[in-house]
Amino acid sequence: MHLPNYIEAKSRNKKKYNRINFKLDSSIEKKYEGKKYFLKTYGCQMNEHDSENISAMLEAMGFTKVDDYDDADLLLLNTCSIRENAHNKAFGMLGRFKHLKEKKKDIIIGLCGCMAQEESVINEILDNYKYINFVLGTHNLYELPNVIDKSIKENKLQIEVYSREGDLVEGLPVVRENSYKAYVNIIYGCDKFCTYCIVPYTRGRERSRKKEDILEEVKSLIKDGYKEVTLLGQNVNAYGKDLYEDYDMGNLLEDIAKLDIPRVRFMTSHPWDFTDKMIEVIGKYSNIMPSVHLPVQSGSSRVLKLMGRRYTRESYLELFHKIKDMVPGVAMSTDIIVGFPGEEEEDFLETLSLVEECKFDNAFTFIFSKREGTPACKLDDKTPIEVKEERLQRLNDVVNKYFLENNKKLENTTLKVLVEGISDKKDMYYGYSETNKLINFTSDKELTCGEIVDVEITSAKTWSLDGRVK
Ligand code: SAM
Ligand code: SF4
Repeated sequence: MHLPNYIEAKSRNKKKYNRINFKLDSSIEKKYEGKKYFLKTYGCQMNEHDSENISAMLEAMGFTKVDDYDDADLLLLNTCSIRENAHNKAFGMLGRFKHLKEKKKDIIIGLCGCMAQEESVINEILDNYKYINFVLGTHNLYELPNVIDKSIKENKLQIEVYSREGDLVEGLPVVRENSYKAYVNIIYGCDKFCTYCIVPYTRGRERSRKKEDILEEVKSLIKDGYKEVTLLGQNVNAYGKDLYEDYDMGNLLEDIAKLDIPRVRFMTSHPWDFTDKMIEVIGKYSNIMPSVHLPVQSGSSRVLKLMGRRYTRESYLELFHKIKDMVPGVAMSTDIIVGFPGEEEEDFLETLSLVEECKFDNAFTFIFSKREGTPACKLDDKTPIEVKEERLQRLNDVVNKYFLENNKKLENTTLKVLVEGISDKKDMYYGYSETNKLINFTSDKELTCGEIVDVEITSAKTWSLDGRVK
């Protein structure tokens, strides 16, 4: 049993870690043929990509995927702990699984992902969810096959959570959800410790993958016909800092752009590490998509300081405008938190005025959620929830106004769209533009997913655009 420990999770000792290659134990390869698994993923793209690795490990053990948990022999939740509602959803699902366990005693239930790293979650599981078979942390995901095998043999609760990141594992198998768009991890963890955020505790310190391993992965995706890669990390701009003296995110982006891949995206960028070299490279290469997600969190320098964000309103705006000026046609998106402890009406008005100035193309807006173990959890928070909800509504009204205004400017223009499928309306295709806008469109000829087509935009909505293939 390894239980999570926040003191260890917070420590950042610079001890070297090993880089190891994943190998499935031959004794469990295809051992569970005929058994079925149900996997539910919560949270960000990194969790979605981890689930692609989880599926591949399970399938190598012989399991097949099912969409209905009633049909499964193994139920697995890949969880997120960024806000309280993500927690509640996962616990709600575990509650539903209890009835299945009562009916089918040998069913195996597992929980992995960020929630597994939290001390309070483990205590809750030990108190109220003892029927679970295993909990596996983010740092030892590669042990999943052995943990499942042991669970099936022993049928008693196993908790395997390493608080400190261990080895950096290469060569995990992957079953990609999509055959033309792929996620590629470039850096794990986060050292920023924004005061509200749980990620540095659940994902450990910043650890970059070697550039050769990343470039090889992208080359093999190109060989397999992939059209778009998204480089992933909690803070991709910190890429390379822990590994190289003279090779950083700017260099990596450039080396990937020189490969024969039509679309390169990256997320997420912290404003702190965004270098001029990166901006230059994004502007120079037409296959690096002109779409930058640059979370601001607040428009008030006072609140930014309380959040530990390491930049001010002024320095954010300077960076924002530099990117806008140097990358032609770039679409900017952001994340904003309202109701951070101590946020006053004047601070909130500064957030609104920053949004008025930046006119973001997209924005994810949240009410501050207390995360146990983070410094902000201990701050005095006098603002009533009703006031926070009202601020969120006022903020959403302003961000939505600019989404529509920006989209309206695209009417009667032609955008390059990567075809992703048939939309829910059935009579239209859908896909994303270079600036990451969702486009629903018609076509006289049949299209295949992964094709890039020219679409003339006929009408704009707040969250999408309609058009027809030229
Ligand atoms: N690393 C990214 C960055 O710094 O911009 C963000 C990663 S986080 C998964 C995505 C977003 O969740 C953050 O940008 C923030 O807006 C939001 N978030 C994180 N912790 C939160 C909390 N405790 N309450 C509300 N929103 C939170
Ligand atoms: Fe969380 Fe801040 Fe790290 Fe983003 S940069 S993951 S918000 S601590």
